[in-house]
Amino acid sequence: MESGTTARAMMLVEPRHFTDTKVTARDDDEGGWLAVEATGISGADVQVWKGDAREIVYPLVPGNEVVGRIAVKGPNVPFDVGTRVVVEPRIRCGTCRRCVQNLATCRSRRPSNSYGMIPSIEPPGLWGGLAERMYLDPNAHLHELTDDVPAEVATFVHPLASGHTWAVELPALKKGDNVLILGPGPRGLACLIAAKAAGAGWVGITGLSHDRDRLDLATSLGADLAINAEERDLAGEIAGALGQRPDVVVDVTADDPEAVFTALDLVRSGGRVILASTKGNRAFHFLSDVIVAKQLTLKGAVGATNVGYQWATNQVATDPRIDNLVSHQFPLTESSRALQAAAGDLGREELISVAVTF
Ligand SMILES: [Zn+2]
Repeated sequence: MESGTTARAMMLVEPRHFTDTKVTARDDDEGGWLAVEATGISGADVQVWKGDAREIVYPLVPGNEVVGRIAVKGPNVPFDVGTRVVVEPRIRCGTCRRCVQNLATCRSRRPSNSYGMIPSIEPPGLWGGLAERMYLDPNAHLHELTDDVPAEVATFVHPLASGHTWAVELPALKKGDNVLILGPGPRGLACLIAAKAAGAGWVGITGLSHDRDRLDLATSLGADLAINAEERDLAGEIAGALGQRPDVVVDVTADDPEAVFTALDLVRSGGRVILASTKGNRAFHFLSDVIVAKQLTLKGAVGATNVGYQWATNQVATDPRIDNLVSHQFPLTESSRALQAAAGDLGREELISVAVTF
């Protein structure tokens, strides 16, 4: 972008209140600029929009599942102008203790190191995908993506990368392992695709009554069991379908504390449980003895790894089924409706995932 030019941005000035603004962006000796093509709306974006996310400073430009083209190549950008890339949400300095320990939550940037959650008061102000331009921090991680994939479909690289990290990398999934996924949202469906691609022997997925269309899609994506947890007895159904307990359970539910108990209860002795969903910072009564008695391994998951992104960019380019996973598209000016849709406020029928396209 030329110095002093402006970009249209949907600025979230307070929860549930966007203003359509123009932000003047200046060139920078260190970073670059992305011309945004499409931005997926994640569960984290919905939390920011509702005011439920922690340590958020408004105003800001939301959107952390970003796809676009290099508009200005900063000194650290390894791609030419015009190259299509996905931008990893987490900006990591690479040198702080957390980065050295390979954790997602770099401490060099407060209050958040994730695109879509950085206050616009931080120069140059455009830190989210709901704007025509997004700043490419010198520490941003970019992955080149083929031009063949429609932009809205390309946003699914982000959930898909998380699915690979959570269902394959963190539980060290082996061929033939049996996996149960709690929650059929975009990241739950991504866990299913990744686990199957990695050779899982059996993959089941659970949802609620309003998830019917997502559970139907899970079946068409190859789920061995897709089940409404509100209507059916999970333990009984899984025992009937699988004949044993799953080796791995991944909690990808939306803000459901009960899912932790379900995961610990249903996994086999010696199994692995991946917790990838927060519970709104609420305290709840917790019986740890089951972890000891069943000799379980528990891991908490935040975001996707570089390996997850590499796998996902390749998968999106080669797996035509991903086209069905982005069900709703909105233009930038209808960002409020996009957030409402992703939150389920416009109804859950046929809702899989939502993207804003430019
Ligand atoms: Zn760091």
